[in-house]
Amino acid sequence: MTVTLNFHGAAGTVTGSCYRIVHPQGQFLIDCGLFQGNKSVRQLNLKPLPFDPKKIDFVLLTHAHIDHAGLLPKLYKFGYRNKMIMTEPTAGLLEFLLPDAAGIQESEAERETRKRGRRGDEPAQPLYTMEHAIEALKHRVTTKYGEWIEPGPGVRARYWNAGHILGSASIELEVKNGDGQTIRLLFSGDIGPDEKVFYLEPDAPADFDYILCESTYGGRERDDYTLGQRREALMTEINEALKRGGNLVIPAFAVERSQELLHDIGLLIRDGAISPNLVFLDSPLASRVTGVYKKYQSMFEDVELGADELFNDPRFRIVESVEESKAINAIRGGAIIMSASGMADAGRIKHHLRNNLIRANATVLFVGYQAPGTLGQIIQSGAREVRIHSDLVPVRATVHSLGNYSAHADHSELMAWIKDRLPAHGALFLTHGEDEERAALRSAIIATGGLAGDQVILPLLDDAFELRAEGVAGVRKPEAPRIDLSQMSSDWSNAYASFIIDLSHLLKETESDARRLSIMAALKAELAETAKTPTPPPIVRDSGAIHGEPSGE
Ligand SMILES: [Zn+2]
Repeated sequence: MTVTLNFHGAAGTVTGSCYRIVHPQGQFLIDCGLFQGNKSVRQLNLKPLPFDPKKIDFVLLTHAHIDHAGLLPKLYKFGYRNKMIMTEPTAGLLEFLLPDAAGIQESEAERETRKRGRRGDEPAQPLYTMEHAIEALKHRVTTKYGEWIEPGPGVRARYWNAGHILGSASIELEVKNGDGQTIRLLFSGDIGPDEKVFYLEPDAPADFDYILCESTYGGRERDDYTLGQRREALMTEINEALKRGGNLVIPAFAVERSQELLHDIGLLIRDGAISPNLVFLDSPLASRVTGVYKKYQSMFEDVELGADELFNDPRFRIVESVEESKAINAIRGGAIIMSASGMADAGRIKHHLRNNLIRANATVLFVGYQAPGTLGQIIQSGAREVRIHSDLVPVRATVHSLGNYSAHADHSELMAWIKDRLPAHGALFLTHGEDEERAALRSAIIATGGLAGDQVILPLLDDAFELRAEGVAGVRKPEAPRIDLSQMSSDWSNAYASFIIDLSHLLKETESDARRLSIMAALKAELAETAKTPTPPPIVRDSGAIHGEPSGE
């Protein structure tokens, strides 16, 4: 019997990381992440798992991000009771992240139930409950960087610092096949950039049979910067915002970004480079996560603040209670307000944006990626008006973006990481990226001559590769795809939202009611005509040559 590697997530999408290895002595998972993004992709969370959770011997977890760990409670719900192996800081983060994810699932189900109730339909069931999350947490087992463990018969594993977020790891694996051969694999997890506060650059050994590498930023480069240069850019943004007289609002992810900002802002205050009146981190989750960072701060590198100074300036207010959060509304200037979510599509940040966007002297600073269709992306793209909690809010504040904060390696850094890990005698699989990014990274790797075209594989969802030490012995495609691939990267609901916003602007700017009525009549007639004509076949961006099947390039 051979070793088979199954791609159950992050294959054709960025999210939902989940790989399953079946070997002569059992089977196990690497990551079990939630699918995030457009509606079609999120549907995958609700569909049955493509394997029996009761037959999985153990789970190896690369890091605590929800797109890597967010389906662990679902795994528990469907009968999984074995070990979930991770670093100690990852276990610390999951303590808060899994219940938070369960809370979101429960409130989404409640909202859906209310909607169904009005139609007289059955109540909606959450993907999983708080109880599933809390029970799943009991199965955490921790491991240290650099130490071999034997999680089950025929399998050895070792965790390496991936420099991405607190506790993040790349996982090295040795799996015995039926002929006594050992297959050596490396799973990158998510890889951090070289210039990052808290951690050294990502680390792992070289020389494997198979390497799996993430490709989130394939083909995309960030400006070169050092930690000092980035802090200087932040200083300039903060000083300009304070000079405008209003507040500075920063949407920030609860994990890692909030703590990086607290570190950098604390350092700038200590050095007298900025002088805000108060700095708020208004998010119960970010507050608890900051506690975990404090607990493991002895593991940090590249930190310029002492243990008692870190996240601890007298001007900092780390806010959990609703009352305290509401009190921030009264502050009209001189404060830095950081809050989650990072893309402003949920959480308390929406209140702060509603209060401050309308003020011409306020500033909104984006420090992270804003996915298409999120409130953050709509504000960032220059909308003059946005909808928040069913109110239309005019955007009068200054809106800026700072691109240098990232937890991900860019194209050159991914290339360097791969080069340092080669050779990959069998193949290199590129995962965790959109098609364009994966294809760009693939072309660049082949161009450098490190690997042949048929050795750089872009697997698709639920593809199964039979691995031998000398190379891939076969590829099995799923009998019935769990999702229509043409829908993975397109979704009508985002396009609809932006169409409606554009239409309402157009009508508002039209000079007379008579003209408005005639535009609407023309549009209605055109829509009725278009709806009658047959739909063209969907555009499928995926080409078989680069997905799974060796192309001979
Ligand atoms: Zn991640």
